Amino acid sequence: MTPVNKADKLSPDASEKGDLSMPAKVDMDKIVSLCKRRGLIFPSSEIYGGLASCWDYGPMGVELKRNVRDAWWKTIVHERADVVGLDTSIMMHPGVWAASGHIDSFTDPLVECKSCHLRWRATEMKGERCPKCGGELTEPRMFNLMFKTSMGPVEEEASTVYLRPETAQGIFVNFDNVITTTRKKLPLGIAQIGKSFRNEITTGNFIFRTREFEHMELEYFVKPGTDEEWLDYWVRERFDWYVKLGIRKENLRLRQHGKDELAHYARDCYDIEYLFPMGWSELEGIANRGDFDLIQHAKHSGRELGYYDAEAGEKYVPYVIEPSAGVDRSVLACLIDAYDEEEVEGEKRTVLHLHRSLAPIKVAVLPLSRNEKLTPLAKEVFNRLCPNFVTDYDDSQSIGRRYRRQDEIGTPFCVTIDFESLEDKQVTIRERDSLAQIRVPVEGVGKILEAKLKGEAFDASALWATRQK
Ligand code: ATP
Repeated sequence: MTPVNKADKLSPDASEKGDLSMPAKVDMDKIVSLCKRRGLIFPSSEIYGGLASCWDYGPMGVELKRNVRDAWWKTIVHERADVVGLDTSIMMHPGVWAASGHIDSFTDPLVECKSCHLRWRATEMKGERCPKCGGELTEPRMFNLMFKTSMGPVEEEASTVYLRPETAQGIFVNFDNVITTTRKKLPLGIAQIGKSFRNEITTGNFIFRTREFEHMELEYFVKPGTDEEWLDYWVRERFDWYVKLGIRKENLRLRQHGKDELAHYARDCYDIEYLFPMGWSELEGIANRGDFDLIQHAKHSGRELGYYDAEAGEKYVPYVIEPSAGVDRSVLACLIDAYDEEEVEGEKRTVLHLHRSLAPIKVAVLPLSRNEKLTPLAKEVFNRLCPNFVTDYDDSQSIGRRYRRQDEIGTPFCVTIDFESLEDKQVTIRERDSLAQIRVPVEGVGKILEAKLKGEAFDASALWATRQK
């Protein structure tokens, strides 16, 4: 591994705080089991025995994943005047992949065990024997990671197309369309979120490395000569984004790629790494791709792909800074970082301390029991809240079990309706992390929760509506 050097300058306390050999506090099995138990993530095609490395997001997972995507889109596209969005097709003209170098160079060295025929990524081999059975391994051969399929009704005549292994190329081939139609000036970013496919030799660690996953990619086009500054800028921005999402700084670090490790298109590259249960691993890569892609596509397509800088009165091919992140890997890091087991009043509580913007459910409305006298008021509270927040209504089982369920999926607030509520028209809000409770009037509950979900402190003692018993 290359030691962090420039990274220190970019983010002074990024890599210093944590003990680098520190084991992660939770093992992956606990995360996998919580995800299954609470409807976050299921094995794909489970009733048929599953499909290796494929996963389905359940009712809670789909909300969490969407919240991660939305947080990225908001920061990268909506809150900036210099970035626009795009949504390009998964299958593209095969010439795209010839130009980008994916047909020739998107390969991993693969070795195969001569006894059990398992295949391994050569770079992951510690010894010279098969890790499974100890058999002899073949010499490494290069294996292309792109999935091939055929387009057209008659298979023999159909042309070969590839499922995209990254969303970036859809952006490069639309560079001219975007510049012409938006009339934006450089520096300009084009962002895209979408599925990518890689026939990875080894997968595993739950949703960390899968063959189908979702990318969040930004191609930021800049004037050559300003690229190093912009790389520094984006490394810092992206690092801070994870911290704002609630990931602890000591579980994040930066690593600069060594010269021998750089991809064929990259002039420089940093990885943001997270301390996953299996050790420090890449969460996002931020690369300086130079003018490689636009030059290649101009050469292969015969179309000019440059930029006329009216202010400088010159024409050039922009350089590109690319922050490239995985939605699924970000979801995994957020889950691991939020997971906690605590003891509350002598009982074990599993809780996800997810950032409130990521929590699948923001508020749960919980009548104390299914008693018919409580239902109308509880439904009234639910109807007040659900147009504004993702709200759950749950009146099954004991209140304690319902609190536990909400804690395990990271719901920041529970609103409880009890028999006293029928008299005084007040309800109790319980906060997930502190377990503090406040009593508030039904008419005010929406406004109060809105403020709390925006980050207002949950200080039970300072509130006018503190429990009045
Ligand atoms: P790795 O070395 O971990 O396979 P990479 O360096 O090939 O990743 P990039 O091509 O830089 O990955 O992709 C950018 C991001 O996309 C990664 O940081 C990761 O978050 C995500 N990603 C890449 N490949 C996968 C995969 N097979 N499964 C899930 N996420 C992935």
